[in-house]
Parts: sequence; structure tokens; C-alpha cells
Amino acid sequence: MENIKVRFAPSPTGPFHIGGARSALFNYLLARRLGGKMVLRIEDTDLERSSRESELNIMESLKWLGIYWDEGPDVGGSLGPYRQTERLDLYTHYAQVLIEKGSAYRCYCSEEELEEQRQAFTAKGELPRYSGCCRNLTKEQEEKYAKEGRKPVIRFKVPDNQPVVIDDLVRGTVVFESDGIGDYVIIKSDGIPTYNFAAVVDDYLMKITHVIRAEEHLSNTPRQVLVYEALDWEKPKFAHISLILGKDKSKMSKRHGATSVVQYKEQGYLPEAVVNFLALLGWSSGGEEEIFTMEQLIEQFSLDRVAKNPAVFDMDKLKWINGYYIRQSSTGAIADLALPFLQEAGYLPQDINEEQYRWVEMIVTAIQEKIHCVNEVLDYMKIFVGEEVEFENEEARLVLTEEQVPQVIEALRTKLKEMDIIEPDAVKKALKAITKETKLGGRNVFMPIRVALTGQMHGPELHYIIPVLGTELVEKRVGYTLKKANS
Ligand code: GLU
Repeated sequence: MENIKVRFAPSPTGPFHIGGARSALFNYLLARRLGGKMVLRIEDTDLERSSRESELNIMESLKWLGIYWDEGPDVGGSLGPYRQTERLDLYTHYAQVLIEKGSAYRCYCSEEELEEQRQAFTAKGELPRYSGCCRNLTKEQEEKYAKEGRKPVIRFKVPDNQPVVIDDLVRGTVVFESDGIGDYVIIKSDGIPTYNFAAVVDDYLMKITHVIRAEEHLSNTPRQVLVYEALDWEKPKFAHISLILGKDKSKMSKRHGATSVVQYKEQGYLPEAVVNFLALLGWSSGGEEEIFTMEQLIEQFSLDRVAKNPAVFDMDKLKWINGYYIRQSSTGAIADLALPFLQEAGYLPQDINEEQYRWVEMIVTAIQEKIHCVNEVLDYMKIFVGEEVEFENEEARLVLTEEQVPQVIEALRTKLKEMDIIEPDAVKKALKAITKETKLGGRNVFMPIRVALTGQMHGPELHYIIPVLGTELVEKRVGYTLKKANS
């Protein structure tokens, strides 16, 4: 079997976008599925917008998701360096090779001249592009321009009238016409390569077999294919994965939900859930199943099952998947994730003792079945802290005026007093015993206790809430709500 090698090639120019994470994931899955390798290449040729901070953020986000690479700026590899700004001599070299082959040339046109050319095309009703006027400069003309202090760019000579055929593994055969592309810059006047050239040089030298990336790069691909052909290099296989749209079918943007991976982490999404969700943005197993661990994805992923049509970013689905993974996780794991939210909101100090951690665990036990996102723990906190609780509505207040209430509350007090440790199992048994001993039935016992303790008619299981509150708070709340209900 062919040695599969893929790459993820982000530009470190800002927060790591969820769409980039999806591309990285598809690359990773294919490589792992086929026993191949993955390269992380940092495309930092936009000197103004690139930063090491963003590069680090990308790497940390990828690792958080559980996506690892075999070669990259941090782990090294035999075909590095893996940052484009550290490979400039390679691009210069291959640009020179192209010039010698007659497939590229220096262009000395100034910005103003280029603008004039574009306008001339537009005036004729044609696509604005470069005129090709420096294609055949003589040595003397070049020297004259250089003497004038003009700094040349290097342009690729796009052949006239040539169909450029791309056999895309997702989109099928796509044909572009070379006319209309215009001779494009491969090396800018400051010596920095453009994306379409640097990516080809790197993909070739890094022995990439499959280029899997977002659909928006499909229109760049003919420019890249022409470079492969001019250099007589074997092309990789291309797979362009579809756009990610919001639920309203417009391009995914901040309006549709967080767009950067780190925001999901900060909001309390689990990496397993984000991975599962991203995989379904364009891929499906063919069956009804929607829950896939990374291992299952690696076992099942194939480009054949990547859809051509746009993927829709459905926040509710992500929440549903996240809720599933929260329920699957251990209480301790969710408590660890919940803790920073509770600290940030001021419920706990930065340094906590064992008892405080235990308290977080008890809260998580109470809500783990209910939440979709770890930050939702904050929505439940009024159940667990404070002596005074408000009735959620008049109906709730009326529950506490029912005639059996004093008997029920008294029975609860007695049972709690008899307990050595107030813990869920014991409380559950006690509540059951109360229903039996009073012969009042479940609703008549549970509802008043719930309202007396929380002011609400729904919520987490009582036998989880009571241990969090402890006898003292139970007593205070009961005193407060009973008084309030009857005043
Ligand atoms: N640096 C490009 C980007 O982030 C990479 C595109 C590609 O994968 O070729 O969009």
C-alpha cells in the first residue's frame, strides 16, 4: 500500500477556527485509518498577521481535541523546517528553477501600473487581471528597471487556453480554464512566497500524498496544479471538504455560535464531543449512529463518505452530543471541569480544600444527568447556595400550604437527625420510608420537600440536593420557605 501522508497547514493569524479544526480532524482520521503520517505545517508567510501566540493556540487546541502529528515545528521531522518563514531559500530556489524553465518571470510593474491594467480589462468587460506585459522582457529592460530601483515580483506564466483538470476525491472531476487566471505572483518583492506557490513546494518536498482542506481552496487548486505540472512533479490527491454553514444556510460566523475552538473549551464542551460533532460536519458512517469516539472514527472514516453538499453547524446537536459525553464521564472528571467556573463566579476561592472539592463533586452528581455543557453548573447554583430561596411561581408557594406539609417536614427532620452521614443513598431510603410511613404517596411527600428546599417544582433529584445542603441549610431553608408560604 502507498505510504499515506497528509498535512494540516494552518495560517497562525488569529483564533483557531472550528472549520480549521474540522480539516485537521479529517486529515488525522485518514492518516490514522490508513496507517499514514500527518504533518503540521505552519503557513506564516503573512508576516503582519502571523504570530507565535496564534501558532501555540492552534497546537494546544489540536492537542486538546486529541489530534497529534508526526512531523511539525515542535516535534521536528526529517523534511522540515515546518514553518514557511524558515523555508524561504527553498521557495527562492524553485522560483529560479521555474524562471529557467520559462514558466516564471520577473515583473517590475508598479502598483499604479497594475491598477491601470486592471481597469483597462474592466473597461473591456473582462475580468481584471495582470496584462502579462513583463512576460518577455529583455535582459537590458530588466537591468533598466532594476536601476530605476524597481523591486520585481516573480510571476508564474499561466499557459493560454489550457483546461486544468482536478480529480477531487470529494467533488469529482472539476475543470478550470487557464484563461482568466492571469499570471500570478509566486514570490513577492520582499522575497516572501505566496500561498499558492509555497504550499506546492512544501507539499511536494514533504511528500504529501493527500491534500485535504476546505472547499474555499478549490479555486486555488488550478494555480497549484499548474506549478506541479511546470516542475514535472507528481501531484498529490486532492479532497476539498464542503463549507460549514449556519443553520440559516449562510456561511458559518459568530452569529451561529462560537467560531474558535478555545471558546468551546472555555464554555465547558468536552473534546470528545467537539471531535464527534466535527466529524459529522460533512462525514457520515452511512448508518443512523451519531455517537463516535475518536477510535471509532479512526476505524470507520473514509473520504468516500464525505458529502459534497455543505455541512450545517447545528448548535443543538453539539449540545446534545456534549450532554451525552458529560453523562459518560466520571463525576470527578466533570467536577474538575466545573471547578474553574465555580471559582470564576466566586462560589469558591482559588485554593480549595478537600471538603470543598467534595462539595463540587456532590453538586456534579446532582446535575450530571441534566446538563449539556459544563458551564450550565452555574444555572443550578441557586439550588445549592444561600439560606433564602424564592418560589418560582404561585403554584410552588401553594404546595407548601397543603395540609400534609407539617407532617412531611417533621418526618424529614427526624430522618436527617437519625443519619450519621447525609449521603444520597441514605437520603433516598429515608425519603422512601417517609412516603411509606406517612402513607401519603410520592408526590405529596417529594413535592413539598422539593419546594421547601429549592422554591422550585422541578430540578435535580432530592436525594442529591439534600447532601449538598447539609442539615443546617436544610433547616434554614425550610424555616424560611414555610414562613414565607404562609405569610
Ligand atoms: N494556510 C492555508 C489556510 O489556512 C492552508 C490551505 C491548505 O491547506 O492548503 O487556509
